[in-house]
Amino acid sequence: MKLFAKIGAFTEARRLEALDLYPFFKPITGGDGTTLMIEGRPRLNMGSNNYLGLTHHPRIIEAGRRAAQKYGAGCTGSRFLNGTLDLHLELEQALAQLLGKEAALVYPTGYQANVGLVSGLVNRGETVIIDKADHASIIDGARLSFGTVQRFEHRDYDHLVRLLKQNGTAGTLIIVDGVHSMSGELADVPRLAEIAEHYDAALAIDDAHAVGVFGPRGEGTPAHFGVADRVHLIVGTFSKSLASIGGFVAGDADVLHYLKHHSRPLIFSAALPPFSVASVLEAVKVMLDEPQRREHLWENTRRFTAGLRGLGFHLGPTEAPIVPVIVGELEDTFLFWRKLFDEGVFTNPVAPPAVPAGSCRLRASLVATHTTEQIDHALEVFGRVGRGLGLI
Ligand code: PMP
Repeated sequence: MKLFAKIGAFTEARRLEALDLYPFFKPITGGDGTTLMIEGRPRLNMGSNNYLGLTHHPRIIEAGRRAAQKYGAGCTGSRFLNGTLDLHLELEQALAQLLGKEAALVYPTGYQANVGLVSGLVNRGETVIIDKADHASIIDGARLSFGTVQRFEHRDYDHLVRLLKQNGTAGTLIIVDGVHSMSGELADVPRLAEIAEHYDAALAIDDAHAVGVFGPRGEGTPAHFGVADRVHLIVGTFSKSLASIGGFVAGDADVLHYLKHHSRPLIFSAALPPFSVASVLEAVKVMLDEPQRREHLWENTRRFTAGLRGLGFHLGPTEAPIVPVIVGELEDTFLFWRKLFDEGVFTNPVAPPAVPAGSCRLRASLVATHTTEQIDHALEVFGRVGRGLGLI
């Protein structure tokens, strides 16, 4: 069949499987936040987005359990028609309050939040400008929007300004990742706010990797830079620091009212289920009650990044608990991943299209509940394996 011809031609993953280097879709049979059971062995999890270590917090699991008992296992319908619980509204209020915005809107995932925001807000004759390295969900939202899509070189704000100058008076949304998910770099949010104001554009920040991590109370990059009131829209996810699944957009009540009636991923997809809404609500409370978690996360980040740099690894300009260990070629990266995995250390290999060819990397990340012993053990294994492969 013509349509399936490409399937036979897609051999890359099979080739890696044959070499025993295929790292994806590994079934996890148990875990406690810092260790994972995979293929019958515990592996130290150095590749999780569970930044605050909240996935196994008893208060959070109990809140989810109680909600499942009260409301059932799922909402079986969209927020729009029959899936909005009082808990969704309570969570939206808690998020709006945390971020200092008038309102928030909860989506089934962070991916859908970005797609729903960009495609719902940017109409024909309008423009969305994205950073070329923005998350796939922003790119996909731009593809689905009927507006004009423009892309500037990664963190090249002069390029952004040139694009804005060309645009004239079209309504414009600028949207970027607050923390870049593959490099750990921060967007220059104050500069972006200044540019957006000057050119009368709306500014949205995707803070998937920043909520819980940056800002005095975990509010994300706008608060970290002291410009929260100059960022119009903040997108976030519950699948990282907030230990669950789901996403949100926060901003002015009028804007969110419009999105509620124009954002197809919200209207045509079922609502976040009771267990998840209640556990995220509790996770926000725990995050505020236990600020020491963020301190531990940063202590762990400093220890691990300094240790890796000391060993001679090249980490790039990360400023976050995301630690990219740059290797270069795809096969060398997957071999490094495999050797670490065999030594009981779990990381994530990153290859194109997530990063440019030739800059493949292992993406490690820190969790607040990693112990000093675990980090030092990971460093010892990274050093030994890296030396064995001639990477350092
Ligand atoms: N934005 C960024 C920057 C992300 O890294 C991710 C998750 N990989 C998302 C959005 C999507 O989040 P979710 O997992 O909630 O769909």
